[in-house]
Amino acid sequence: IDQVFKQACEVIKVIEEAGGEAFIVGGSVRDYLSGREVNDIDIATSESPQRIQEIFDKVIPVGIEHGTVIVRHQGESYEVTTYRVEGGYEDYRHPDKVNFVDDIKLDLARRDFTMNAIAMSRNGELIDPYLGYESIKKKSIQAVGNPLERFREDPLRMMRAVRFASQLSFTIDSETKSALEEMSGLLACISIERIAIETEKLFSGKDYKLGLQLLEDSALQKHLPIFKGFQFQEDYPKAILYTWHEIIAFYTFSHSEISVEAFVNHWKLSNATKRKSEHLLSGLKIYENEKKVTPWLVYQLNEGSFASFERVCLALYDECDGLQNSMRRTKKDLIIHHRKELHFQAKDLISLFPARPKGPWISEWLEAIEYEVVTERIENNYEKIKEWVKSWNPPARN
Ligand code: ATP
Ligand code: MG
Repeated sequence: IDQVFKQACEVIKVIEEAGGEAFIVGGSVRDYLSGREVNDIDIATSESPQRIQEIFDKVIPVGIEHGTVIVRHQGESYEVTTYRVEGGYEDYRHPDKVNFVDDIKLDLARRDFTMNAIAMSRNGELIDPYLGYESIKKKSIQAVGNPLERFREDPLRMMRAVRFASQLSFTIDSETKSALEEMSGLLACISIERIAIETEKLFSGKDYKLGLQLLEDSALQKHLPIFKGFQFQEDYPKAILYTWHEIIAFYTFSHSEISVEAFVNHWKLSNATKRKSEHLLSGLKIYENEKKVTPWLVYQLNEGSFASFERVCLALYDECDGLQNSMRRTKKDLIIHHRKELHFQAKDLISLFPARPKGPWISEWLEAIEYEVVTERIENNYEKIKEWVKSWNPPARN
């Protein structure tokens, strides 16, 4: 068995020595068998969460009611979940109840796709009752059991099918695909928060164009806020977008009728996402004019957002490789990095115009000064700035 599973196998061994059974399951088995990089390793076990807490020293009880705990072992975390089957899905959100079972095969039966329903022992033996390994070799996404029933049980699985297609460059098996077309309306029953997680992963897949195409073909798109009116073929990002803020900056830039706020509200995304989207969008508006890295652009953008900014530019324009490096170089050479480094501050403006009541003009004027200094039109020098301020006529406000 591969080295990446070495430590997970030690966890399994400890469970076995305590009289239990455990297997590696889910995405890591699928990714390993398809030659992809393995990320989080999930373990399924016959033992109850209470028993796992007794067996290991460091256990974090993250979802005891669903049978899941996190076991910390040699600096790594493993999600260890007791074999379970799920009760009804009445509210389309969570299974009404979960029942613990003692057979791994029953646990595999509740999983969404055959490629995700393979268990691997610590010797590398596969328990693969649904022939998931065959599907992986055929690069095919196939529901476990009857796809119509499985999608009715949990309509989110339809979004998962599409995002796996995007991430893995797999095709959706024909029966599963027609179930998707038939059942797409049920997506309306799913909380937008759950849909948002899958959608972000879809955009970050290397075959995102295929994913977006599938959304359109299956009519799932009709149930996605903002996107429902889109013709994706005309709006394809030219490159992969990794996060919601990149996706939002990309679409609000090319669809000026959609505000970042509306986007974030409809998708119920976080304030942090809103802030980052607005930040990127303001950068794009500066970049648009000259299509090159300027001091003013890098002055406005946080260094932490350069990578995201480059990705959004790659998604919008044909030629902007190496943007990040050029941005870093330009940032280093900036005359000032922050408003507080200006040798002319709010108090100086106020004493120059004592008759004016304080108000937003102060910040606007400071920004105008920043612009002059950053773009090296004037020196960062008190007297020089004062001369400039005295002669400056701010543009009329409407
Ligand atoms: P990723 O690499 O993106 O994490 P994953 O396959 O590990 O992919 P997870 O969402 O982490 O996906 O879920 C872990 C496993 O749990 C899946 O492989 C699948 O077996 C099962 N699973 C997750 N969500 C569902 C669902 N909605 N219905 C049925 N099984 C599910
Ligand atoms: Mg996973």
